[in-house]
Amino acid sequence: MYRFAPSPTGDMHIGNLRAAIFNYICSLQDKSGFILRIEDTDKERNIEGKDAEILEILTKFGIKWDTLYYQSKNLKFHRELAAKLLMDKKAFLCFCSDEDIAKKKELAKEKNIAYRYDGTCEKLSDEEVLNCEKPSVIRMKKPNKTMSFIDEIKGEISFEPENIDSFVIMRTDKTPTYNFACAVDDMLEGVDFVIRGEDHISNTPKQDLIREYLGYTGKFRYAHLPIILNEHGTKMSKRENSSSVKWLLETGYMPEAIANYLIMLGNKTPYEIFSMNEAVEWFDIKKVSKSPAKFDIDKLSQINREHIKRASDERLAQLFEMPIKFASLIRFYTQESSLIGEIKDKISHIYSPKHIQGEYENEMKILKEAILKLDYKDSFDEFKKALMSETSLKGKKFFMPLRLLITGKEHGPELSELYDFIKNDIKEII
Ligand code: GLU
Repeated sequence: MYRFAPSPTGDMHIGNLRAAIFNYICSLQDKSGFILRIEDTDKERNIEGKDAEILEILTKFGIKWDTLYYQSKNLKFHRELAAKLLMDKKAFLCFCSDEDIAKKKELAKEKNIAYRYDGTCEKLSDEEVLNCEKPSVIRMKKPNKTMSFIDEIKGEISFEPENIDSFVIMRTDKTPTYNFACAVDDMLEGVDFVIRGEDHISNTPKQDLIREYLGYTGKFRYAHLPIILNEHGTKMSKRENSSSVKWLLETGYMPEAIANYLIMLGNKTPYEIFSMNEAVEWFDIKKVSKSPAKFDIDKLSQINREHIKRASDERLAQLFEMPIKFASLIRFYTQESSLIGEIKDKISHIYSPKHIQGEYENEMKILKEAILKLDYKDSFDEFKKALMSETSLKGKKFFMPLRLLITGKEHGPELSELYDFIKNDIKEII
């Protein structure tokens, strides 16, 4: 069972979407099922409406989940299982105040050593715990052995107990931390393969430890995906526009193209242009590169153009929100632009009323009148000849006003090629 577990705390990052796509593809390959879990336990960071946005984005990409969970619905189990860990003495109550911890962290920093919890409250007797009125968190006891796991991409990864530390699993307000909620939910929901970003590598031994202490023996497989770098070679931050899936969609990239690009990123694929369903046939999570991948928006644009060309008429009509009769014209316009919005803009200029003004005002008037009188001409050659003889215009004084009259723009595709797509509407568009 696979899962995608986004937090509704901001715009979806392409790194998250890549994790969603990889999980989904793998779940289709071994037909084991795919869970969508909205990790909404951090109330302060949740943003209203972001959960609905996640569902909407995944739907746009054709990603279908078998079950949808909201993590906050499992709060009862998080509390019960934390209590069990306390009773089994695998976890302990910690009364250290935030100020105490902050001071100790400061001290560690001065000594240039990494801060680790010093075990103060682990040593308290049952009586001392019972008599303490201060607010408390629950901490796991750090493991007494090296924790290792095999990563499908990176190989074996080990963590020493000090680097796992006695970490907090329940906050003072009795809400679970990310590691605890995530470990418990993955266990309860029957997940056994976790694909996520490599920024979670240090969480993996903690989550394994939680389940081990709870007595769970189910095996987990992991694949941690390398980070995505920007064109300067540094980590793509949430603030960069192109890291936001919403921004990419709004800018005019097709979901099919974004998915294609993210599957290709840091991966060897048998073809350059493919659909997610095609990728199910050959995708191999083990073959994803260990090293970070560089995001290249120009490459994405090129892939977008190819997907516009190969999309069905119905799909283009839906994506461009235009009548289906424009499908071929949309494909034709990929020679001018690779973005949905830009292509749409150019086509709508053709079909908008033209301003007969400027340097060629006179010629435009003459041409318009002549076109209105002209019989239907099947080829641009016939159209041009008839129009030239009717108006006696030629050269730039013929072509430029004609282009302005047809496209509303000074530059654009060859009129001789464009004509085929618009000849039936010629009298309406001028
Ligand atoms: N909510 C976490 C995130 O969005 C989930 C990480 C995970 O897949 O475990 O980063």
